[in-house]
Amino acid sequence: MIDLQPIFQAVRQAAELCRVVQEMHLAGGEKTGHEPVTVADYGAQALLCRAISRHFPGDAVLAEEQGGQFVELVSDSEKAQITRLLSDMLGQRVTEADIVRWLDHGYGYEAERLWVIDPIDGTRGFLALRNYAIAIGLMVNGKPVGAVIGAPGYPTPDRGGALFHAQSGVAYMQPLAGGALKRIHASERTEPASLRVLESVEKSHASHERMERVRQAAGLAESALERLDSMEKYARIAAGDAELYLRLPRLFSKRPHMVWDHVAGAALVQAAGGLATDVDGSALDFSQGRTLANNRGIIVSNGRIHARVLEGVAKVLADEARS
Ligand code: AMP
Ligand code: MG
Repeated sequence: MIDLQPIFQAVRQAAELCRVVQEMHLAGGEKTGHEPVTVADYGAQALLCRAISRHFPGDAVLAEEQGGQFVELVSDSEKAQITRLLSDMLGQRVTEADIVRWLDHGYGYEAERLWVIDPIDGTRGFLALRNYAIAIGLMVNGKPVGAVIGAPGYPTPDRGGALFHAQSGVAYMQPLAGGALKRIHASERTEPASLRVLESVEKSHASHERMERVRQAAGLAESALERLDSMEKYARIAAGDAELYLRLPRLFSKRPHMVWDHVAGAALVQAAGGLATDVDGSALDFSQGRTLANNRGIIVSNGRIHARVLEGVAKVLADEARS
C-alpha cells in the first residue's frame, strides 16, 4: 500500500485552483473562451506532478499536458496568471521554470509505477459550469490498479463535491474538502426499470444514437438515462449511484480514446466490484502508449448487468456490419 495523502492534497489544491479560475473567468457569463481551460489545465497538472515529484520521485508519469507546449503555446498573460495562481496556492514564489519542470516530471521514465494524469477531464463541463474531474490513475505492469479522482460537482448532500480513491482492490469516497472515508461498492440492481444509465453530454464524444440502440437491444428502454460530463461517470458507477456507463464512438470516428481519460476510472470501478471493458467484454488495452488504439468502445457497469449489455452491444454491432 502506498500513502495517497499527498495526492489527495494535490487534487484538493488543483480543485481549488480550478474553482478560482471558474470564478474569475466564467461565473460572469463568459463561457466560450479557451483561456480558462488553458490556465486551469496547466495549473492543475503542475500541482499534481509537483506532488508526485516530491513524494514518488522515481515513478513514471504520463500526463495530458507538456512543458514544451506550455512554453510555446501559452500566451504571456496566461503564463503570468498561472504563475501567480500557483504562487498564491503554495505560498511560495513559483517561476515558469518550476512549472515546466513539474509539468514534465516523470515523462519517459522507466519505472514499475506509472501515474496517468488528466488534470481537467471534461473541459466542456468545466467551461459550462457543469461537471468535471481531476483524475490520477496508477498503473503497474500496464494494468490500472489505483486511482484518485476529484469530482467537484458530485451530488453530495453538502454540495461540496467528492474525492474518490482506490488501491489494492478497495474503493472509497470522502468529501472533497476532507472528512470521513466511506467504503464504496457498485450497485446490486439488475431490474431494468430501476437502472440508471450514464453517457456523455457531448454528441461528438460518443454516439447518442448508437447507445440508444444498445439500450433497446439490451432491454433497458425503461431505465433512467442521465447525460454527464467527465470521469465522474465512472465514480457514479463505483459509488453505486448508477449501474451503466456506455461510451460508443460515432461510426467512422477516427479519434482514439486517450489513456488518461480511462485509467483512473477503470481502476476505481474495478476496485468497487464493477467492470470496465471493451465492447466484446475483453479487458481495456492500456498497453498501446497514449491511446487505446485497439478500443471499439467502453462499457462500464456494476458487473451484474454486464453480460446483458454485452449481448445488446453484440446485436447492434452485427446490425451495423450488415447495413
Ligand atoms: P465526456 O465528458 O465523458 O464526454 O468526455 C470528456 C473526454 O472526451 C475528454 O477527456 C476528451 O479528451 C474526450 N474526447 C473529446 N473528443 C472526443 C471524441 N471525439 N471521441 C472520444 N473522446 C473524446
Ligand atoms: Mg480528459
